[in-house]
Amino acid sequence: MAYVSHGHSDHCLPHGHVLATPATAEFYRLRTRRQGVTELPFHRPHWVKDRCLELFPAGHVLGASQVLVTGPDGRRLVYTGDFKLRPAPCLDATEVRPCDVLVMECTFGHPRYRFPSIAEVETQLKAFVARSFELDVIPVVCGYVLGKGQEALCLLTRAGFQVAVHESIYRVAKLYEKQGVDLGRYELLNLASVPALEGKVVLCPPHVKKQVTAPLGRCRTVMLSGWAIDPRSKYRYGVDEMIGLSDHADFTELLEYVERAQPRVVYTTHGDGAFAEHLRKSGMEAQHLE
Ligand SMILES: [Zn+2]
Repeated sequence: MAYVSHGHSDHCLPHGHVLATPATAEFYRLRTRRQGVTELPFHRPHWVKDRCLELFPAGHVLGASQVLVTGPDGRRLVYTGDFKLRPAPCLDATEVRPCDVLVMECTFGHPRYRFPSIAEVETQLKAFVARSFELDVIPVVCGYVLGKGQEALCLLTRAGFQVAVHESIYRVAKLYEKQGVDLGRYELLNLASVPALEGKVVLCPPHVKKQVTAPLGRCRTVMLSGWAIDPRSKYRYGVDEMIGLSDHADFTELLEYVERAQPRVVYTTHGDGAFAEHLRKSGMEAQHLE
């Protein structure tokens, strides 16, 4: 049996049989067309031989979990999967469990990665939309299909904007709602009727940006990404602006996580190993897994 932490495509590959939260199971079935899934809700103990598994929230995307494995000798291992500690507007709060061994995802494991708070992101997003309306152009917000798309939708509807949503993000938003998440009022993007988009915000994933912006004519684009910290990122994404909304932990959150979990040893995944090196310099036992 394989454990699937969340529904992003790089973590959601076909396996013989899978253990996942109900929401992740839904994404897994959609992506892989496979049915062999044991659904395990957060906080429910599940025994595999003499080891007890428990899934708990990772704050990354809907259904994203971390797993705590307790061995017969009482030793505790946590694998975080992709996670963040900053509260997402539409997800369960991330939890941190004390453990002996911590395997953690460290995409942004360098001290230069410090992301703005969700309140700052909200302010920046509102300012972007207001600026676009002042310039009399359509604001186009780009975020990934699962996760950032729904966080952006939640922030935009909460701010009172009318939002026209690309069907890929719209489809996933409906799955969020099926799991009880309130994303506010929004509509499906219809590019056949551009005049009807006046005064509205368009939300789409970055891979369809060109298809969406071509028929719009005058518009202004922003990409939501942790890579906003890197000065050249807006050229890489081909957008007018960047806002640092990420669904991963930044450097400060990674440190806070280790502080709260108090592990004896840390293994890091993703990133370039800088975070493991940082931990070693501060006297911890840490190793980067390639
Ligand atoms: Zn992910």
